[in-house]
Amino acid sequence: MHSLKKKIYIETLGCQMNKSDTERIFGIMSHFGYEQAEENEADFLIINTCSIRQLSEDKAYSKLGSWNARKKRGEKLVIGVCGCVAQMEGEKLLKKFPYLDLVFGTHNIYELPSLLETRGKVCAIRKEAVKEEDFNIIRNKNINAWLPIMEGCNNFCTYCVVPYTRGRERSRSVDVIINEAKQIIKDGFKEITLLGQNVDSYGKDLENKPTFAYLLSELDKLEGDFRIRFTTSYPTDITDEVIKTVKCGKKICECFHIPMQSGNDRVLKAMNRRYNVAEYRKIVQKIQNEIENVTVTSDFIAGFPSETEEEFQDTITQIKELCLDYSNTAAYSPRPNTPAGRMTDKFIPDEIKKERLQRLNETVREASFISNKKYVGKTLEVLVEKENYKDDRRVLEGRLRNNKVVHFESKTHNVGDFVNVKLNKASLWCLFGEEV
Ligand code: SF4
Repeated sequence: MHSLKKKIYIETLGCQMNKSDTERIFGIMSHFGYEQAEENEADFLIINTCSIRQLSEDKAYSKLGSWNARKKRGEKLVIGVCGCVAQMEGEKLLKKFPYLDLVFGTHNIYELPSLLETRGKVCAIRKEAVKEEDFNIIRNKNINAWLPIMEGCNNFCTYCVVPYTRGRERSRSVDVIINEAKQIIKDGFKEITLLGQNVDSYGKDLENKPTFAYLLSELDKLEGDFRIRFTTSYPTDITDEVIKTVKCGKKICECFHIPMQSGNDRVLKAMNRRYNVAEYRKIVQKIQNEIENVTVTSDFIAGFPSETEEEFQDTITQIKELCLDYSNTAAYSPRPNTPAGRMTDKFIPDEIKKERLQRLNETVREASFISNKKYVGKTLEVLVEKENYKDDRRVLEGRLRNNKVVHFESKTHNVGDFVNVKLNKASLWCLFGEEV
């Protein structure tokens, strides 16, 4: 028998916050008779866009093109765009892509059911966020559950659109987060990742000003076998209290993602990052000295406007000297309406950006290998996330508490198990071991 439910598919680009928003949209739409479907079966198609780089925007436009082709072939589809590109471009998208039915911003997710009832094409973009405490989320069955603790950012780095697309920082209350975490654990998830553009700013906008460290310690007290992760940290907002809480926590994973973006003070200033190299180094070294088996990962931009070769070299030096375990990298991509996007006379030519990015990636690869090799010989707990078959061998894949990927053979363990594994070989991106 055919399901009478309407079918929705969402293509999600970009960061974990977008993934979490997609889960929220599924949660809301489930109350209005929609069920998740495969792309080719759905009649309501949404692309949740990311505007962090031009490449990501282009990906969204190409997906829209393929959906338009289906519409032209006579399929009755509703096509919508949400996320950061929708927030930035708004009405312009409806003009640019006349086959679109719906554009809604990052602060309009809760209005989606009523927007669908509006006749004709709709564009709904709120400039200001409305406070949403009780996110209704339908999470895909998985090991890890994303749990947004705050949204927005007050930092205004000159290259970034987030403060414009996501608004100012808004924290959810401790009680709401704890209740949602309890439900996540009850639903069988083994890992909770707390999400926020700047998790260390958590609570500053709330009445009793609960700190991020307090929230972490309350979550750590919850019953059950699960891990807690968090992302992203702003270097100078990480307090000693947070470091101590991670160190002493039973469930909090020893893993910090702290974007540095550049290893040069002048470039950091041009980016409007509120720290210098010495301050970043101090916080990373404190974490590395205090917490055993901790990993510190980072983000870097190659070819920020006006960056010289010497300044770029400073970034390479910092990755090596700080023994950063892994870093995400990207060539600078100008974003409309950002201060850096207007520095057109200082843009670095594409071929230089590309070449710097290659060198940056090479440095990250070397640093990752050096970091992985440090774990050979240790026995550590792995949370199994996947099973793979290689010939007739059953190889499980999982992560250490510090987020390093581990492969090991096992006949007895399954996805979701915590297994002690002796690590005996390192490669560039992962470790291999045997269960003990
Ligand atoms: S801290 Fe900077 S880069 Fe990160 S979201 Fe805020 S403005 Fe963007």
